Amino acid sequence: MKSIKDVNFKGKKVLVRVDFNVPLDEHKHITDDTRICEAVPTINKLVADGAKIILIAHLGRPKKNGFDEEFSLKPIADYLEKLLDKKVIFIQKLLGEEVEHIINNMKDGDIFLLENIRFYPEETKGDEAFAKKIAALGECYINDAFGSSHRLHCSTAVIAKFFPNDRYFGFLMEYEVKNLNRLMRESKKPFTAIIGGSKISSKIKILESLLDIADNILIGGGMVFTFLKAQGKEIGKSLCEDDCMQVADNLMKKAKIKRVKVFLPIDVVEAEKFDNNAIRKEVSVDKINSQYMGMDIGEKTAKIYFDVIAESKTILWNGPMGVFEMSNFRMGTKAMAEAIAEATANGAFSTVGGGDSVAAINMFGFADKVSFISTGGGAMLEYVENGTLPGIDAINENR
Ligand code: AMP
Repeated sequence: MKSIKDVNFKGKKVLVRVDFNVPLDEHKHITDDTRICEAVPTINKLVADGAKIILIAHLGRPKKNGFDEEFSLKPIADYLEKLLDKKVIFIQKLLGEEVEHIINNMKDGDIFLLENIRFYPEETKGDEAFAKKIAALGECYINDAFGSSHRLHCSTAVIAKFFPNDRYFGFLMEYEVKNLNRLMRESKKPFTAIIGGSKISSKIKILESLLDIADNILIGGGMVFTFLKAQGKEIGKSLCEDDCMQVADNLMKKAKIKRVKVFLPIDVVEAEKFDNNAIRKEVSVDKINSQYMGMDIGEKTAKIYFDVIAESKTILWNGPMGVFEMSNFRMGTKAMAEAIAEATANGAFSTVGGGDSVAAINMFGFADKVSFISTGGGAMLEYVENGTLPGIDAINENR
């Protein structure tokens, strides 16, 4: 990886793609700042060098063509300024004369955050002409946006071609890749993957890939019910992707052939409705009420999963076991966090990735009790699947 470690960027206009796509509450308060904090080492190195730092980032999925207050990076600029204790220039624009004027007048060590790049639909289309316009704002390009590097977008990949000799990986990218390579290439057995979340359709590729790496796969979250329905069980009003039942069934068959143990819950917490105060019951997966919905794994399942994790030497976790945002349905997710912390204390190498799992690990206070927290959800899973990402290839190409 072409690192920034040995390069001095003094006086250079450096475009840095960062991943500031963080969760915000209704008052625009950042509820998890992990991604912003993880970008700080690269920014600090550039400040110390005396570079002119131009940050490129996105927030959410704006649908309007053009500026949309709801997705402005303004709250992020304010937050970053406090975090760094340093002025962050921000003007709610990305291109144009005003932006160029600011860049031409930046002093060494100045930081300028450009407005949400997704206000231009060209960004996600990977439009080359747009990438060229963005590239023209700087003299070097650094990709430090691991969490967005699975996208073949202008600022995460296409732009790199305009800097054939001046494109680099930031410290966060290096750190992520080093840890994920360790997870995949030097993993000690047993390797246990804990996969949860709402949908099987978004996790099927990683589940298939894990059949070649893992010894145990523990399944939780809403996707459980597609597996259970495929087995002919009553799942009531639980989340289900009917068009994925065959996929779920095939996965179980492949796992048997590959001798990978795939665990499904034996009991669940069911509720009358999708509400923290709804009537709730713990039932066997054979006794789900046709009028109820499954909201979490049950105590017996949590115990089984806990014991598998405790015996593991390598652990990968992505996706909550239940609706952990509601206090009455977070027992399973909390149990997984506890089990991972315990296994890590006993020498296991553990990796947690994905917005919800990281939020859960932080919520339960275990962030410093796991080996590695990835800033990527989709990016982490895709790296584990393919061993690379479009944003990594773009920097390494034709070297
Ligand atoms: P994903 O974005 O696919 O990783 O899914 C994360 C979301 O799945 C979280 O917001 C959870 O609340 C939700 N979730 C987990 N378990 C369930 C469940 N049993 N029913 C409905 N939603 C769930």
